[in-house]
Amino acid sequence: MGNTQSEILVIGAGMAGLACAIKLAAAGRSVTVIDKGRGPGGRMAARRTEIGGETVSFDHGAQYFTARDPGFRAAVQAWQSAGAVAPWAAAGDEAFVGVPGMNGPIKAMAQDLDVRWNTRAERLERSGDGWLIETDQGAIRAKTVLIAIPAEQSHTLLAGVHSEYAAAASQVVSEPCWAVMAGFDERLAIASDTARDPDGAISWAARNSAKPARAGEECWVLHASPARSREILDRPKDEAAQLLLKDFFRQCGIEPAEPLHLAAHRWLYAMPAALQGDHARFDPSGRIGIAGDYLHSPRVEGAWISGTMLAERVLDPA
Ligand SMILES: Cc1cc2nc3c(=O)[nH]c(=O)nc-3n(C[C@H](O)[C@H](O)[C@H](O)COP(=O)(O)OP(=O)(O)OC[C@H]3O[C@@H](n4cnc5c(N)ncnc54)[C@H](O)[C@@H]3O)c2cc1C
Repeated sequence: MGNTQSEILVIGAGMAGLACAIKLAAAGRSVTVIDKGRGPGGRMAARRTEIGGETVSFDHGAQYFTARDPGFRAAVQAWQSAGAVAPWAAAGDEAFVGVPGMNGPIKAMAQDLDVRWNTRAERLERSGDGWLIETDQGAIRAKTVLIAIPAEQSHTLLAGVHSEYAAAASQVVSEPCWAVMAGFDERLAIASDTARDPDGAISWAARNSAKPARAGEECWVLHASPARSREILDRPKDEAAQLLLKDFFRQCGIEPAEPLHLAAHRWLYAMPAALQGDHARFDPSGRIGIAGDYLHSPRVEGAWISGTMLAERVLDPA
């Protein structure tokens, strides 16, 4: 990337960072977004894989989202008209999912922005009246830097740079979540497409192939509860996948079936306990701000609200 210059740099192209960038760009501000991920998703991730010669996508992060805030409802309506989200009644009357994968809205938001994937912010440093951001792809200079990544990762960037925001980020504790993606050649004997059990080892299970616009014969995503996730946090992926699949069959009371495909992903910072106070923070004299679900609520909608509020603060800091 070399040494590039931008007016506003947003670190993190998840729902919060992109909501922020879209509002700033719509107000005529020049914005660049960087994300360490290979492609659009963040915690609204979708992973493609081949099962029996067919390309299948699993939503292994957020499963669905609800929209209650009027501004967020309007955004969801626009995504729905653009074919990036669809209702999914199996998760509730008001539930939506991205299509064709959960990252549908993230892809749609990113397409009109200058987003650079595969670019990890490693260090921030004040430079003149702005910032020098060191990334694994070279340095970026920006007048304003906005950080929209999970609290624990924000803290690493903020420590020694902005003590108040670093202290806020350090108070946040996020629950981990092991997610299992399992594909079968036959339908499992489970009537419902979703199963929720806050007290079980598997706190959520969804027939991913029953979501709108999904391929795949019989694909399931299983989320381990925070307690079960912590218990097996450092197990190798394959072992965690096997253990959690057993938990799932036991919990559903059905005979174990041999999966055609089995994989696991460990989310270390899946669900933060949100901080009280402002839902977005911006320091106009330091030209630095923070957004993310951890400042509102650990949900897609919470991330959108926080990112949008951060843009509002930047546009009208008074
Ligand atoms: C397993 C799981 C289940 C969930 N279920 C639901 C649900 O059912 N409903 C719901 O509403 N919400 C759910 N959520 C929560 C929801 O996904 C999040 O609240 C929301 O997506 C957070 O958006 P964000 O923009 O704040 O963060 P993220 O989506 O985490 O985005 C942050 C981005 O920053 C990038 N990044 C991190 N560090 C750096 C760095 N140093 N440099 C550059 N880029 C960086 C990451 O790659 C990422 O793309 C779930 C989350 C998980 C993990």
